[in-house]
Amino acid sequence: QAKAAGRNAVCFFDPEMQATATENAALATDLRQAWREGQFLIDYQPQVGADGRMTGVEALLRWRHPQRDMVPPSHFISTAEETSLIIPIGHWVLQQACAQLAEWSKREDRKHLSIAVNVSVRQFRHPDFVDEVMTVVRESGIAPHKLKLELTESLLADGIEVTVAKMGNLKAMGVTLSLDDFGMGYSSLSYLKRLPLDQLKIDREFVKDILTDANDAAIAKTIIGLAQSLGLGVIAEGVETPEQRAFLAKQGCDEFQGFLFCKPLPIEELESFMDSLESGAAV
Ligand code: C2E
Ligand code: MG
Ligand code: MG
Ligand code: MG
Repeated sequence: QAKAAGRNAVCFFDPEMQATATENAALATDLRQAWREGQFLIDYQPQVGADGRMTGVEALLRWRHPQRDMVPPSHFISTAEETSLIIPIGHWVLQQACAQLAEWSKREDRKHLSIAVNVSVRQFRHPDFVDEVMTVVRESGIAPHKLKLELTESLLADGIEVTVAKMGNLKAMGVTLSLDDFGMGYSSLSYLKRLPLDQLKIDREFVKDILTDANDAAIAKTIIGLAQSLGLGVIAEGVETPEQRAFLAKQGCDEFQGFLFCKPLPIEELESFMDSLESGAAV
């Protein structure tokens, strides 16, 4: 009812909504403090190619709350967006990722790896976003294509022209662009054709039941076919079993990410994991 009354309406009579609002305010306060006190960490999850060799990792934000366990992003990303804290936090993730790429570029056995960074709509929409990416990439001295930005279809809410132009600027810089959670949003195929993308990322939602649900199997197949006909790469997230991987590979999926290979790990553990692989061997 609050919605019908207009977006600025405050709903004093609904105790449940009041409770949610209070919770959100508390979370926002906690997040500001967490940011000031450096409670954020990044885990890295391997991505592998068709041959099972690591192609790179995805950077995944973690919040280590002093009184609670690790707080998952699903609990705080939307509040970070609402409070705009996602702008400095996202910038920090980008810096950390590029610093890590710079480290790896010094090592023969690591220099081929890419790092995927999730970009929220709020960040992408910021007028300085492209300049900031450019600055971070330049200052870290990395090869720009090793930075992969994971964007979502929700960007299109801002309009196709603006989105295409901004993505074009990022592409011109040489960074890699992937469309995360593909299939969950509302992008039309005519829009998709216009976006300067390198990769589609199939959402875990479709991978989960790929072997038992004919609809999910059909969706995954369609996404892979679509990527191929548009000349894009395609990666599946949430791959947990060899059977899921085999099915996706058979359809032509060229990259994979999921617990089957490795869960997201703190950098030290990721380094040990990579050391434990025979140089360049399959995961
Ligand atoms: P996402 O980008 O779609 O990331 C994939 C999520 O799937 C991650 O959850 C990852 O831990 C999880 N995952 C990976 N493999 C498997 C698997 O085999 N099975 C299952 N069940 N899950 C798997 P996580 O780390 O909780 O992140 C959730 C979401 O939070 C991300 O979804 C992304 O949208 C957002 N996020 C994470 N880090 C950042 C960040 O630095 N910035 C922004 N803006 N968003 C972030
Ligand atoms: Mg992602
Ligand atoms: Mg995803
Ligand atoms: Mg997802």
